[in-house]
Amino acid sequence: MNDAIRPQPGILDIALYQGGQSHLPGQSNVVKLSSNENPFGPGERTKEVFLRAVHSLHRYPGTDHASLRQAIAEVHGLDAGRIICGAGSDEIITFLCQAYAGPGDEVIHTEHGFLMYRISALAVGATPVVVPERERTTDVDAILAACSPRTKLVFIANPNNPTGTMIGAKDMARLAERLPAQAILVLDGAYAEYVEAYDGGKALIEARDNVVMTRTFSKIYGLGGLRIGWGYGPQPIIDVLTRIRGPFNLSTAQLDTAEAAVRDQDHVARCRAENARMRVWLAEALAEMGVPSDVSMANFVLARFADAAEAEGCDAYLRSQGLIVRQVAGYNLPHCLRITVGDESSCRRVAHAVAQFKGQR
Ligand SMILES: *Cc1c(COP(=O)(O)O)cnc(C)c1O
Repeated sequence: MNDAIRPQPGILDIALYQGGQSHLPGQSNVVKLSSNENPFGPGERTKEVFLRAVHSLHRYPGTDHASLRQAIAEVHGLDAGRIICGAGSDEIITFLCQAYAGPGDEVIHTEHGFLMYRISALAVGATPVVVPERERTTDVDAILAACSPRTKLVFIANPNNPTGTMIGAKDMARLAERLPAQAILVLDGAYAEYVEAYDGGKALIEARDNVVMTRTFSKIYGLGGLRIGWGYGPQPIIDVLTRIRGPFNLSTAQLDTAEAAVRDQDHVARCRAENARMRVWLAEALAEMGVPSDVSMANFVLARFADAAEAEGCDAYLRSQGLIVRQVAGYNLPHCLRITVGDESSCRRVAHAVAQFKGQR
């Protein structure tokens, strides 16, 4: 052991991210409802475009992502010059931390916020600052109270994972307005497409110089396995992020497939509608069994149990039935289980199994 070889400060404080499990030993017909994936996957044309990428595997991809940025800009009414694409929105979060935070700086996230904010902050030696939520909802006043001259980034997922709750445009604007001058507000819109008529924060970004949004192809677009995300913000910030982006961070397959996906908004609309239908159904079914949840704006339901023991017991029973959901003790919600809204038969299976579990008690 060579004690002189040491990683940068903060790195050894990172707890490894646990992805949603996808297999149960000895079980077939397993339903994975643990990673908020779209049960329908990408649309047909998107899959065809991905297959076609086999013909250009020997070529380096383009470095400017111009065609994908153009497609995103057209669909969302954005300025293509202020879009940056990455290997999942995780990579955009990483760029933001690398570019704007370091030792001595503070990165704010909320009590039940996405774990990648903390990991990315620690990876650059910055200090994560955890802010309480109010009833599992982002509390703008608590965030403002936690700001200091060292605050560089404030991460909010809206809707949030794993709570499914979101704050409105007025609250977002008030937060952006009152942040200290050196801080950037990052609106993580991983689930924005699931919210009817929500712009992900676009209007706020256009009105200000301190707000960035991150978006992903991993959720409603059904491309979590391909790793594509993007960010949008003020030109000076995007220019900084682009300097640290690897020139070949996205493959041709990623770029072309994402472009086909974003151009297929019919598929997005169908997935949004089906998710909304089954989300309501699942939440109501659970509530009838005495398992409440907050109104979710995303593609999962955060089911609340009496205590951690009951949540763990229910999780164990669901596993015995071939159903994988997500324990969220790592998000300070040990009495809850996050259940992704699957297709209709998966929702029925999970509701049936929870009912059996509750009935046995
Ligand atoms: C799933 C998720 C993401 C997506 O990450 P990718 O790297 O784009 O797959 C981002 N933020 C939140 C809050 C999420 O739940």
